[in-house]
Amino acid sequence: MKTAIIGGGISGLALAYLLKEQCPNADLTIYEELARPGGKIWTERHNGFLLEGGVNGFLNNRPKTLEFAASLGLMPLRSSDRARIRYVFSKGRLNRIPEGVLDFFQSNLLSVRGRARIVLETIARRSSSTDETLSEFATRRLGREAYETLIDPMASGIYAGDSTLLSLKSCFPKIYNLEAKYGGLIVGMLKMKWAARETGKSVSAGPGGILTSFQDGMGALIDALAAKLGSALVNNSRVTAIEKTANKYHIHFKDAPAEEADIVVLAAPAHAAADILYALDKNLSLHLARIPYPYVTVVSMAFKREAVKSDFDGFGFLIPYKEGRKILGTLCDSNTFGGRAPEGYMLFRTMLGGARAGGVAALDDEKIIDTVFSELSDIIKIKGTPEMVKIFRHEKAIPQYNKGHAALLGGINESLKAHDGLFLHGNSYTGISVNDCIEQSYPLAYSLGNLIMGKSKGLDIKS
Ligand SMILES: Cc1cc2nc3c(=O)[nH]c(=O)nc-3n(C[C@H](O)[C@H](O)[C@H](O)COP(=O)(O)OP(=O)(O)OC[C@H]3O[C@@H](n4cnc5c(N)ncnc54)[C@H](O)[C@@H]3O)c2cc1C
Repeated sequence: MKTAIIGGGISGLALAYLLKEQCPNADLTIYEELARPGGKIWTERHNGFLLEGGVNGFLNNRPKTLEFAASLGLMPLRSSDRARIRYVFSKGRLNRIPEGVLDFFQSNLLSVRGRARIVLETIARRSSSTDETLSEFATRRLGREAYETLIDPMASGIYAGDSTLLSLKSCFPKIYNLEAKYGGLIVGMLKMKWAARETGKSVSAGPGGILTSFQDGMGALIDALAAKLGSALVNNSRVTAIEKTANKYHIHFKDAPAEEADIVVLAAPAHAAADILYALDKNLSLHLARIPYPYVTVVSMAFKREAVKSDFDGFGFLIPYKEGRKILGTLCDSNTFGGRAPEGYMLFRTMLGGARAGGVAALDDEKIIDTVFSELSDIIKIKGTPEMVKIFRHEKAIPQYNKGHAALLGGINESLKAHDGLFLHGNSYTGISVNDCIEQSYPLAYSLGNLIMGKSKGLDIKS
């Protein structure tokens, strides 16, 4: 049985590696469009700086990723304690985000009224809708000020998304379930903390965990996987379409003759899967095309330490939309992981664009650099010129799980039933993080292994 995986991002590579572990003799090929594998994981070195063009780490609270990295012989690198210090840019200045509940209520991050409104969360009304946007949910439960200052920047930090469109239940299922199960966030957290005392586990409504990478950056994960997969990974292979005759899939390429396969896994983003599947199933293709991908540009910019005139420390800052700035936020890579910048330099990574400002991400290089430099000069008080600049463009960056995403997945799964041996995988559907991509590769590899060995029919994307 021949298996083809289309897309050599972390989802496709992790799946291929796990499948090879389970079925060492599987006839398996991974087709990757670009000259390099990794997709949004993309590490480069420039004059002693280690730059992450996309993904800069994963949270270490999901054991599968650590287990996966260990199986490849990779040692995780935890972010420094300083990376626990985070800021939100609000009311024209950087405000440190308090780590504890008491600190939060004593801080001036929100007005007295805004803080008092959070306490009223315990008696907030329930919604009649089962698929609220993040803004609807957060305003209803926590009040407008907390939504605008804390929740909205979180949505742009993770999804580069528009919180008035993102679906709470699809993007933040833990928070959705907290209300569904306990009636509210504060009550839910307290009950969970109480229950956790007995098991000794820590509890968090957010993602939790410590940001983790590798000494050589996230690209080390891709290099290790590419080395394990060897000639099964074929770069520079853009798949243009899939067709089916009898019980074989025919995979068409931009610059090569078609190949046949019995099992096809589309691990390319949904927008690419939509193009590839158009000839096979127009309805499925149209469903996939409805998942939006905004433009995001990442700018790495380094300065001599003495050029940074504020006492800016910590991981970085996010900017609420209401502040009207041109950047989404900035991370300080040299404060977060050791070995990211030469001694005496600070390395920053700024994100622009996203669902509300894709046009900014699409500006030409000169304007992008001017924008980032002027925003950083103002926000973290830079006096001097950048010592190094590198721009990474992601024209279709992060899938947006907008309101209606769950219903869309229902339609996609329904259409998939007509295509035995065809699977969708990757961060377009039920989890956008590296942790999600790796975790979801395990059951799919297991299911495909069984299919190859003639034991079962397989899973759908919800598995
Ligand atoms: C700027 C940015 C920062 C991010 N930071 C983080 C982070 O710090 N932590 C985190 O957990 N997540 C982060 N993410 C989310 C991240 O994208 C995912 O976690 C993960 O990398 C997605 O992997 P994937 O394999 O599903 O998709 P992708 O990485 O998009 O891989 C899909 C692959 O398919 C290939 N492909 C597309 N079309 C075709 C075709 N027609 N034929 C053949 N191949 C094709 C692509 O070239 C690509 O290699 C970030 C995303 C972006 C854009």
